[in-house]
Parts: sequence; C-alpha cells; structure tokens
Amino acid sequence: MTVLTCIVCPKGCRMRIDGTMAVRGNGCSRGADYAVKEFTNPTRVTTSTVRIKGAAFARLPVKTDRDIPKDAVFKAVRLLDDLTVNAPVKCGDIILPNILNTGANFVATRTLLKEAPVNGVLK
Ligand code: SF4
Repeated sequence: MTVLTCIVCPKGCRMRIDGTMAVRGNGCSRGADYAVKEFTNPTRVTTSTVRIKGAAFARLPVKTDRDIPKDAVFKAVRLLDDLTVNAPVKCGDIILPNILNTGANFVATRTLLKEAPVNGVLK
C-alpha cells in the first residue's frame, strides 16, 4: 500500500494505492489516473534555469516541453550546468533538445533580448 497526495487539483486528496491498482481516497477519476501513473511510471514536467550571456539577466528560465521520468529529473537539470546560451532568446526556443533521449526538450519560458553593452562590456 502506497500513500500519496493528488497534485491534479488544489483539493489535494490523500490517496492509497495497492499492488492491484485499487485506489482509495480519490475525490474523482482524475486522481485515480494520477495515482496509477505515479505508482507505475512517475513523470514530471521539470523547471530550472540556465546561464545566459548578453541579456539583462544572468539566468534564463526553462522547462521541459513534456513530462520526463521522475528518476531522470536530477540528471536532466545537471545537464544545464554546463550550458550557456546567448541572447536573444525567444520564449519557446529549444535550449537543450532530446534530454537524455527522452524526446523532451528544455525550452525557454521567457523572451530575453540582447542588451546593449555597458561601457563596452556585455553582462
Ligand atoms: S482526486 Fe480529484 S478532487 Fe482529489 S485532488 Fe485529485 S483531481 Fe482533485
């Protein structure tokens, strides 16, 4: 028996699921679907940031464009440590394709334009 909290809606039902995929405590069928998926193949949309050069900010927010396996999240985010992108970047641009052969991409979640250099120096 595994106990989990549904994250599909703000109600946050506390559910139990056993090896036969019987779900208890769910307030609706979406919770049961979530519990089975979480029990058999947990996945997450993953957010992070990556270094960017030449923009007004030092970090660009990114997210995966689809769920990736939960056990790949840490390794996927670590891939961003070695990456620096150059401004300009548009919201939705692919920053890192096919993360760990999952078919998911890290994409920019905001547009950052190229900043004019200050005293000849780009940020
Ligand atoms: S089980 Fe249904 S009602 Fe309960 S938190 Fe999940 S989505 Fe919301």
